Amino acid sequence: MKVPFLDLKAQYQSIKEEVNPAIQNVLDNTAYIMGKPVNEFEEKFAKLHNVKYCFGLSSGTDGNHMVLWALGIGFGDEVILPANTFIATAWGATLCGATPVFADCEADSYNLDPKSVEAAITEKTKAIVAVHLYGQPANMAALKEVADRHNIYLVEDAAQAHLAEFNGQPVGSLSIATSFSFYPGKNLGAYGEAGAVVTNDEKLAEKFRMIREQGQSKKYYHEVFGHNYRMSGIQGAVLNVKVNHIAYWTNERRRCATKYNELLGDVAEIKLPKEMPYAKHVYHLFVIQVLEGTEKRDELQTFLGENDVASGLHYPVPLHMQNCFKNYGYKEGDFPETEKLASRGLSLPIFPELTDEMIEYTASVVKKFFSK
Ligand SMILES: *Cc1c(COP(=O)(O)O)cnc(C)c1O
Repeated sequence: MKVPFLDLKAQYQSIKEEVNPAIQNVLDNTAYIMGKPVNEFEEKFAKLHNVKYCFGLSSGTDGNHMVLWALGIGFGDEVILPANTFIATAWGATLCGATPVFADCEADSYNLDPKSVEAAITEKTKAIVAVHLYGQPANMAALKEVADRHNIYLVEDAAQAHLAEFNGQPVGSLSIATSFSFYPGKNLGAYGEAGAVVTNDEKLAEKFRMIREQGQSKKYYHEVFGHNYRMSGIQGAVLNVKVNHIAYWTNERRRCATKYNELLGDVAEIKLPKEMPYAKHVYHLFVIQVLEGTEKRDELQTFLGENDVASGLHYPVPLHMQNCFKNYGYKEGDFPETEKLASRGLSLPIFPELTDEMIEYTASVVKKFFSK
């Protein structure tokens, strides 16, 4: 049996009848940038996350940037974010001219550790970016307490966590502003680059609207500095169809996780992902840890590959160890939990179309490896 890491083709086949005419409609109306489908999608997406405003964008990376930019973060400012995340979280800060300051993650949630955040705060700190990594919300209550006490912004990067919940509240509604990604492989994926920001704050919404479109309040009247961060019409049309299925797909991801947990619960050599008591995890990724270390993890990955099971590493090099940040003075050992994930973590296939049979097969290959 062959188990892919992701199967975008299977998903396309399941919605082809809906999505093709939606794309055709954009072509017929020549609404190539923004337009009605984008607006409809924004409304649905905002409602799903219990927020007033949603702005469709060109990518999640652009969303990371726009959130901090609209909050006035700039040169000389510091922004605290997890060392355990995808690089784009850090570009949000660097694109503003600010300095990303890294913090460690917790041993169980794999998200920002409030204690590590607290230790990283200086008088230059302006914001904390809570990333809901792998699909699990960060501990927003604890992070909010830290942010409020130091009078700094708390924002969310929910690129991997559409529809995830913290204590029953959807991500995106837990802070002043949140960015999302609709990169094709994300839980809600477009058919090209796309992203969004959401907020409940009216003033910030006004800034987002202007920054997204050349800083203009109306055509050719430029109130503030801006950029071109608009969503393409075709991506909006695709997302406007796909957003109607996201709740179902999320349930399917959770089915996969439950099945893995049942089948792998008794494998002593690995640590399974833990859904925190406050969290509804949406399992963008299913990351296990191979407790014996890197060598064994790499052997397991090879063994899975030999048996036609794809897997991935998220992420092999933590941000504080990336070449591009080498001048910041971080060193190995600075963030032990993050480094553990980099060296021992392995992502097993998880996506809505993954069948129980494929999960059973994958689990059997993992078990076979450890019983060798
Ligand atoms: C994917 C991702 C982004 C960037 O999104 P793009 O749409 O690819 O630009 C940002 N942050 C995290 C945590 C991501 O996983």
